[in-house]
Amino acid sequence: MKKILVIGSSNIDFVATMDEFPKIGETVEGNLFSYNMGGKGANQAIAAKRAGGNVTFITSVGNDDYGHNALEFYKKEGIDTSYSIVNDNITTGTALIWVDKNGENSIVIIPGANDLLSTGIIEENMTIIDESDIIVLQMEIPYQTVKAITEIANQKGKTVILNVAPAYPLDEDILKSVTYLIVNENEAETILGENKEEVGAEGLVDKLIEKGAENVILTLGKAGSIYKNSEGHLRIPAFKVEAKDSTGAGDTFCGALATRMSKGDCMKDALTFASAAAALSVTKMGALPSIPTEIEIMHFLS
Ligand code: ADP
Repeated sequence: MKKILVIGSSNIDFVATMDEFPKIGETVEGNLFSYNMGGKGANQAIAAKRAGGNVTFITSVGNDDYGHNALEFYKKEGIDTSYSIVNDNITTGTALIWVDKNGENSIVIIPGANDLLSTGIIEENMTIIDESDIIVLQMEIPYQTVKAITEIANQKGKTVILNVAPAYPLDEDILKSVTYLIVNENEAETILGENKEEVGAEGLVDKLIEKGAENVILTLGKAGSIYKNSEGHLRIPAFKVEAKDSTGAGDTFCGALATRMSKGDCMKDALTFASAAAALSVTKMGALPSIPTEIEIMHFLS
């Protein structure tokens, strides 16, 4: 089995529910509070591991309880965290999430230690980059770091999977260094500066390829996904499930896809497996708790 290296964010999500958001200067009593581990890097590393992959995760946390707990948690999942960094004088990445009685949310993200994943980590981790076959990245760490890693990994002949989440207007150099670009419709619109109402989903995919992307996977929520490159085109329908919470569907999809690619699946099989994993994830609440294991995905597919 090939080795997967995920380089990305770790966040702690602090979630408070309340009937109405407080106005400026107002104090209101909330209903429930919870905190959960998250961050797109962490979610994707865990999704890849639970799907049966051989996963190393490079992340950066603060020297605080949240950071240490997060690294411990990844280790218990079976992920190699030995290249991750613990930093003094900065907090672990934090997301402050307010949810009102209608399910609307307001979120403040403080990147904290995620911002310290600078281009310097590349030189320090060249050995593990060399040893890995598939490199998985998202956009919750500095753009310059993502760009430098994709360029070096591409020169070294690695498979580079970039999930452009949160949305970011990538430049063409980075698009050309990525092997598989995974985006949802909003992310594709941001990269292209185009409106999906005007060009349609297929049009977004074509325009990303025109801009230099080699393989594009456009995810469409419960409408499934589209995969396209210069040789062909696949449309993968989503599995029909009773959806409870779609948070983390994209992360589960990316991690599971990387794992099936690492096991040598053809793209159709890998995308079907990833869609099954993501469909299972939307049937449960939360991001991390809802990421399924390989056995659950296999059972669902059988
Ligand atoms: P993101 O979370 O990045 O916005 P999507 O919402 O497009 O990503 O979801 C990623 C994938 O998860 C989809 O391509 C699909 O396979 C699966 N998925 C998402 N929502 C559902 C749903 N309601 N039912 C079944 N599968 C879903």
